[in-house]
This record gives sequence, C-alpha cells and structure tokens, in this order.
Amino acid sequence: MTLCVVVPVYNEQEVLPLFVQRLTATLDGIAGGPHQMLFVNDGSADQSLAILREAAARDPRVSVLSLSRNFGHQAAIAAALDHAKGDATIILDADLQDPPEAITEFVRKFEEGYHVVYAQRVKRKEGIWLRVSYFLFYRMLAMLADIDLPLDAGDFGLMSARVVEEIRSLPEHLRYTRGLRRWVGFKQIGIPIERAERKAGESKYSPFGLLRLAADGIFAFSTAPLHAAAVIGSFAVVLSAVFAIYSVVAKFVLHQSPKGFTALTLLITFVSGVNLLFLGIIGAYIARIYEEVKRRPVYIVEHKIGAMVER
Ligand code: UDP
Ligand code: MG
Repeated sequence: MTLCVVVPVYNEQEVLPLFVQRLTATLDGIAGGPHQMLFVNDGSADQSLAILREAAARDPRVSVLSLSRNFGHQAAIAAALDHAKGDATIILDADLQDPPEAITEFVRKFEEGYHVVYAQRVKRKEGIWLRVSYFLFYRMLAMLADIDLPLDAGDFGLMSARVVEEIRSLPEHLRYTRGLRRWVGFKQIGIPIERAERKAGESKYSPFGLLRLAADGIFAFSTAPLHAAAVIGSFAVVLSAVFAIYSVVAKFVLHQSPKGFTALTLLITFVSGVNLLFLGIIGAYIARIYEEVKRRPVYIVEHKIGAMVER
C-alpha cells in the first residue's frame, strides 16, 4: 500500500522544516510505500518554495507542485488531488495544527475497509470567538445542508484512490472539499483528533476569509436560504391580511381613526430590510453561478518538481 500526503503551503517558512521532519518520521513508521509527500506551493512570497525544493532534493519521496500565484487553500487542495498518486491520499495542513502522527490511525481504519477517514476536531486551541463561530457554523450548516455533513470535520483526513477519483471528476469551480468528500459517499468514519495551535506563523484565513469559506459551504450544499424567502414572505402576507381585516373592522365597526405612525415606519424599514437581505442571498447564488459558468481553471501550475501523476 502506498500513501500520498498532500500539503497546501502558503508562506509557511517558519514551520516547514519541523513539519517535513515530523511527517517524514510518521511515514517511515507506516508499512508499505514508498509513501509520497506532495506539497503545493500556493504562490508563497517567502522562502517556502526554496525549503521545499531542498527537501525534494534530499528525499525522492518529496515532490512539489508550484502554482503561478496564490489561488487559495481550497484551490491548492484541488491541485494536489489532481496530481496525487497512491492507494490513499491524505490532506494535511503545513502548520502542524493537525498532528501528522494521526495518519497512522487513519491508515488502520483504511485497512479495515473505510474509504474516507476524517478528523473530527475536539478541544480546539483557538480563541474563544473563533471556537464559538466554528461550533455554530458546523451546526448551522449541518441543519441547512441537503446531505448530512459531519460536525467539526475539516479537510484533514484520508481518502481512498477511488474517492479521490470521484471528487476530481466533480466539475465545481468553487470547491468546499470537506463537503464534496461527504457528497461522494462510500464508507466513511470520523475519529476525534485534538487540534493544536499553529506552531509558527499565523492563520491565512482572515475573519472575512473564514466567512467566505462558510458561505461556500452553505451555498454549495444548501438552497435553504432561497426557500427561506418564500416562507418568510408567506408569513408576512398572512400577517398583513389579518391586519387589513382588522383595519376594516376598526374603521367601520369601532369607528377609530388611523394611528400608529411609529409602527408604520418600523414596518416599512423592517420589510425593506428583509427584501434587501433576500436580494443579497439571491445575489450570492447568482455570483456563484457566474463564477461557475466562466469555467476558468481552478489553478495554474507554474512548475513541477519530482514524481507525480501528470495531468
Ligand atoms: N494555505 C494555502 N493557500 C492559502 C491559504 C492557506 O495553501 O491561500 C495553506 C496554509 O499554508 C496551511 C493550510 O492552507 O497549510 C491552512 O491554512 P491556515 O492554517 O492559515 O488555516 P486555518 O488552520 O487557520 O483554518
Ligand atoms: Mg491552520
């Protein structure tokens, strides 16, 4: 059995040497092989590429796919999956937040016949706000999504060659890997893994970037926000019909003159707010349709170092 560990890298010079060392040690302890390490240099502006080049020169199991610019985490993963070879592929971040040593356990499950083994993050070490946001996001997405997405599962995990093949054939441009992985099916299992802090450097996801990833997840796997407009709209129609009947009764039976200017203003601002919100939601879906129909490639490879599947 051969493994291919794929690693997206964007400006990780501080942590890369230690990462390569720990990953190599882990792979040395796993039977079979030779196991591959495929790094995707996602347009790093620091010494990351030089460090990777050196690692590739030292160890034939290391190969590097260098992209022409920064395409983003998910695009880098897509590039890696397109070039990975082996009976199983593992997605692993370079910042050592996810312990490479967990791969040993993934392999055990793989040998038991699971096609997908993913890490379920317990005990995150990030700040309280980030933890609360992640917690709420995964639960909201699970509630909204049309498929049952596992809670607290990131991209870190193992996939069989068959699953990689299926994911690769999905035509989406905007890729939410952890969702696509679930979508393809096959026998899957999550195992709890503690998520450490970054060993060095800082998170490449700004709060805004995380929101975008979250939006990609929701818009790619759920149309519930679109249906919500219809539900809230029908509710408003019923409410206003009731109010209309009341107004007629008030005028002709109770002989009351109209009042409630404040209520009126509130109602108008509220309803136009809801309108704009749903226009925005529809806009978000349209923007994604637009991104998809452009059919631009997800990434561009500048050069390749070492052995990999040619595509
Ligand atoms: N990464 C990448 N391209 C990017 C941003 C990040 O290849 O545009 C890599 C990064 O080097 C790391 C992984 O993706 O190996 C996850 O990034 P990060 O640790 O910043 O995300 P977080 O763990 O904070 O979600
Ligand atoms: Mg990280």
